[in-house]
Amino acid sequence: MLPVEVLEETQSELVNYKNSGMSLIECSHRGPHYDEVHNEAVGLVKELLRVPDEFGILFLQGGATLQFAMTAMNLLAPSQKAAIVHSGHWANLAMKDSQVYGNVYIAWDGTDDQFSRTPSENEIELQPDTRYLHITTNETIGGVRLYDWPDLGVPLVGDMSSDYFSRHIPWNLMDVAYGGAQKNLGPSGLTLVIVRKSVLETHPRDLPTYLDYRVHYATNSRFNTPAIFPIYVAGKVLKWYKDKGGVDEFEKLSIARCAHLYGMIDASNGFYNCPVEGESRSRMNVVFRLPNEGLESKFLADAELQGLVNLTGHRSVGGIRASIYNSMPMEGVEKLANFMDNFRASHS
Ligand SMILES: *Cc1c(COP(=O)(O)O)cnc(C)c1O
Repeated sequence: MLPVEVLEETQSELVNYKNSGMSLIECSHRGPHYDEVHNEAVGLVKELLRVPDEFGILFLQGGATLQFAMTAMNLLAPSQKAAIVHSGHWANLAMKDSQVYGNVYIAWDGTDDQFSRTPSENEIELQPDTRYLHITTNETIGGVRLYDWPDLGVPLVGDMSSDYFSRHIPWNLMDVAYGGAQKNLGPSGLTLVIVRKSVLETHPRDLPTYLDYRVHYATNSRFNTPAIFPIYVAGKVLKWYKDKGGVDEFEKLSIARCAHLYGMIDASNGFYNCPVEGESRSRMNVVFRLPNEGLESKFLADAELQGLVNLTGHRSVGGIRASIYNSMPMEGVEKLANFMDNFRASHS
């Protein structure tokens, strides 16, 4: 979800942007109106995530999905190795696409534990001469969170699609952070990539223009037409984040939100069951099961009658998933928790 204030402001500006006589989405991507919007959004990313000057901030397209390949294309020579924390669905896709461009091996594998947890730093086994370690800081489908940022002397490349702006990033460990905007930042169609500038000095292969980070950095993400509308709305979301207290505040809120739901699950005498262990439990995507699929269908149908929607688990795993991103107010979480309590009382 997005903050309703942001949606209303967007609506009020949509037809005639700041008395320009045009909508912003009709303006030139090189004109003064969009220029301001673009640079303000870049500045807010930098400020909110405390991005050091050694990093470039890129607004790209193609989703996090394109970054699975693009990170490897730009960082990994065919003779080099990269490691990956195999933490679930998204890590698996990142591995598949990055393997096209180099030798990618699994440094920790959650398969045997059915992806019910993430590793601590000392469980990750790196081989010598590893160029980078790919992590998925939050597995959106499995509901597992990487709680430990691995500090193993190898730079990190992190898919942060579903927990961007809900936690600070240890920049000293990172080469690249990336994520699609649509979970915790704004509308779909925008990918936020933050890349260490020194990475751009090495050049593992010739690349088509759009796939080369150096091109986007050199042009402030305007080599070609950027995704104006998503960037414009994301800028408003970032402003809203800033007004509400920034990433520190959203991290606190995320802890409070998920604690409410995990508390309800753990106090249900097994009626609700979360397959994820302790510290690895996601603060953004709370996944749980009911005693059987029939009850899960009833749960979803009854919830919808009360206005509690989008609770179906990902089609690949089933069950229930409550996604509680930054814009979700505590009242939404409380309403769900009350519903869960009542549902259990009448069905167990
Ligand atoms: C949603 C998601 C993706 C895919 O994002 P797209 O922007 O749709 O390509 C990748 N990684 C994670 C962790 C996600 O949650």
